[in-house]
Amino acid sequence: MTRTDDGFLRPKTTRKLDRDQRRAIAEVCPGQRQHGLSEAPFTHRLWGGYHDVMTGWSTDPELRFEAASGGALSATLLWLLETRQVDAVLSVGADTRDPLANVARVSRTRGDIIDQAASRYGPSMPLAHVAQRLDEPDRYAFVGKPCDVAGLRNWAKIDPRIDQVFPIKLSFFCAGVPSLQGARDVVQRMGMNPRDVARFRFRGRGWPGHASAVDRGGASAQLSYQESWGDVLSKHVQHRCRICADGIGLAADIVFADAWATDAAGRPTFAERDGQSLLMSRTSFGASLLSNAIAEGAIAARPTDISAIAPMQPGQKRRREELLGRLAGRVLAGLPVPRYRHLSLWRNARHAGGWRTVKAALGTARRCLRWRSSYQ
Ligand SMILES: Cc1cc2nc3c(=O)[nH]c(=O)nc-3n(C[C@H](O)[C@H](O)[C@H](O)COP(=O)(O)OP(=O)(O)OC[C@H]3O[C@@H](n4cnc5c(N)ncnc54)[C@H](O)[C@@H]3O)c2cc1C
Repeated sequence: MTRTDDGFLRPKTTRKLDRDQRRAIAEVCPGQRQHGLSEAPFTHRLWGGYHDVMTGWSTDPELRFEAASGGALSATLLWLLETRQVDAVLSVGADTRDPLANVARVSRTRGDIIDQAASRYGPSMPLAHVAQRLDEPDRYAFVGKPCDVAGLRNWAKIDPRIDQVFPIKLSFFCAGVPSLQGARDVVQRMGMNPRDVARFRFRGRGWPGHASAVDRGGASAQLSYQESWGDVLSKHVQHRCRICADGIGLAADIVFADAWATDAAGRPTFAERDGQSLLMSRTSFGASLLSNAIAEGAIAARPTDISAIAPMQPGQKRRREELLGRLAGRVLAGLPVPRYRHLSLWRNARHAGGWRTVKAALGTARRCLRWRSSYQ
């Protein structure tokens, strides 16, 4: 994997692939195809298959404070380690040599989990660190973006070692991956030179917390979540993520998200408060993990009605409802589209209505034709 000039991670072919390798890539890569079939007892057109929907937080106050939302994801990881259900966790944290960038990290202690807590809104590639672990005796919990987990599930179908070494697969809602340039722009907006940054956080330390940077001289600066994500990072999200059918962790055992509070008009508010995570168990294994983590006191959580998610996550709702239109826009521009099956595309488009679908199609076609080279 190499970093491009515009700050994304892309695979680079270093030698010719044979037919079997090309077939394996086509079977595993979630960028090419994805299906939303689920063994879960309930299915929602927007939020997919699920067992439980809950709102909750880590009962460890330090973890809750350090984490992105309520720390429920980190609390689950710590509980899995402490109860020896896994030996280690493979997730993503800041690169100490390049603090705006991300690296895959292995956690084995509470200190590691706290260090890796909170979201890293930039390119990450935890899957690139899977193959080297497949012959190790350790068992891992895997944390990745929804596409990472979908890829891992696909991989498990052709390599049984995946489920032995990575029996637990966790994810979070994902609005898309911004380029590294996004993080640089956030730092510049703080009035700091990206080259001088010694430590950088996208959020956490409160909910939603701030993006914060410390330079080599010890000076610090910060930016609110609304400014960093809303004004800067969201503008750097790559096109592929905007036509993603799964920003909601459909393939995960449990998926975590922000359980944003909403105002009188039903819109999310980002006033600082104690963190709350949204939790959805998607497999029966995930459901039993979640109920045990709650019963053993690692997470405090209460059941939440599925209808509460839409006002918390308007961006995810919009993308799901406009997806068919966006894909039609790519077809109009003569570009290929991923193969999506059982992902409620038509049903969601009907809810969006004809006008929104046509608008999404024309907008996408126009952007694809204008920036064809980066929209392939
Ligand atoms: C790119 C991106 C987009 C997101 N979009 C949304 C969204 O649209 N809606 C929403 O509700 N939530 C979104 N989130 C998730 C959200 O920010 C929180 O992670 C989620 O609410 C869980 O919070 P928590 O406190 O339970 O997790 P924490 O306890 O803070 O744990 C976070 C875990 O995620 C891992 N992690 C962080 N960044 C990455 C990464 N880039 N790749 C792989 N692993 C990572 C960490 O190592 C840690 O284990 C996004 C996160 C990312 C990284």
